[in-house]
Amino acid sequence: MTSTIAQNIGMKKGAITVNMRYPTRKASSRVNMYSHFIGRGPRDRIFLISPSLPSIIIFRQITRGFVTYNCPIKEEFFVGTKAVALLSGGLDSTLAVKMMIDQGIEVHALNFTSGFCTCNHGGKDGGGCRSESKRVAEEFGIPLKVIMKGMDYIELVRSPKHGYGKGMNPCVDCRIFMFIQAKKYMHEIGASFIITGEVLGQRPMSQRKDAFRVIERESGLEGLILRPLSAKQLEPTIPEKEGLVDREKLLDVLGRSRRQQIDLAEELDVNNYPCPSGGCLLTDKIFSKKVRDLLTNKKDVTKKDLALLKSGRHFRHKGAKVILGRDEADNAVLKKMTQEGDIFIEPVGFPGPAAIISGGGGPEFREYAGSLIVKYALEKAGALRTLRAVCGEETLDYEVAGPASEELIEETRVC
Ligand code: SF4
Repeated sequence: MTSTIAQNIGMKKGAITVNMRYPTRKASSRVNMYSHFIGRGPRDRIFLISPSLPSIIIFRQITRGFVTYNCPIKEEFFVGTKAVALLSGGLDSTLAVKMMIDQGIEVHALNFTSGFCTCNHGGKDGGGCRSESKRVAEEFGIPLKVIMKGMDYIELVRSPKHGYGKGMNPCVDCRIFMFIQAKKYMHEIGASFIITGEVLGQRPMSQRKDAFRVIERESGLEGLILRPLSAKQLEPTIPEKEGLVDREKLLDVLGRSRRQQIDLAEELDVNNYPCPSGGCLLTDKIFSKKVRDLLTNKKDVTKKDLALLKSGRHFRHKGAKVILGRDEADNAVLKKMTQEGDIFIEPVGFPGPAAIISGGGGPEFREYAGSLIVKYALEKAGALRTLRAVCGEETLDYEVAGPASEELIEETRVC
């Protein structure tokens, strides 16, 4: 009778052969039983073992073995499957989340933001991707946690173990960094695995099979990162093998074309994805010059240093850094972002860019910055020009004879 009920509800005989330790008995015995996998906690796999008397068996995975607990329960219960999703708010991660929600997975989104994000729309601090992920999370009704990559991430960018891509983008290390945080969150909320919108072959550095393996190994997540868009191009993950996710409903997207994703977006009714591929300024070769210059020349990088990378023309002269505004908005940013020890310089009586000198305070540096201001000033003239240098409480008006030479600009310009 029991076996008929068991078979009817999809339980499998022999699926578990374990050493049972009954709470009331010291002795262990090896048993074959009917079992039905019903969920997974952060460290446990939970099976229903009796169709008539609700009791569960929890497999606690310690290294490669199992310790088994048998605990009768009185009430019926349901253990849903949770997953943590890395959600940028771009098309791919949005689709990955939607595919999991459609499979009944309880998705908890995680968004990473940094000063190197390209999207500037929507966020007070330029965190556009954060706004996009918020919008997607709200639309799907799922919780979202935002993590700002802090100064430890800057150190990772300074010297990544796995090197850079075409710019200063340390993609492999960056993914490991994010997955380690995601793993902590996974354990915190009792999720069973992690999903991402990664597509095999879409990005040359971090979205290759060998890179996936390295990332999974070094983040301690082997078999626990599911990439729903490319899953059928990859080995089945633990959640697929355990039946938490239906592999048949996953995709086999490969490469850089976004055709399949766009079709799927229509099919799943996913709209408004203004930041389709996500954006990272570290992949930009020009921006990377400024990052490299900063990280090479300054040990204790500040948030303002990072923010200033997005403004102005950057120069490096005899160890000092000069940033020159390109327009009024830049000039205002420079004034606001001037840090202790920096010198803020602006033109007096003529229209032109403002500048910050960082790391050099003598007349030579003021002269150099002034000559740049004159060079890029709107009014061209060979006469003496007056500039005002402000450092803390001190203000000094001084004159420069003329613009910087082309050779000097060429030699000292970072970007
Ligand atoms: S593109 Fe930027 S954010 Fe994305 S993995 Fe590479 S370094 Fe990290």
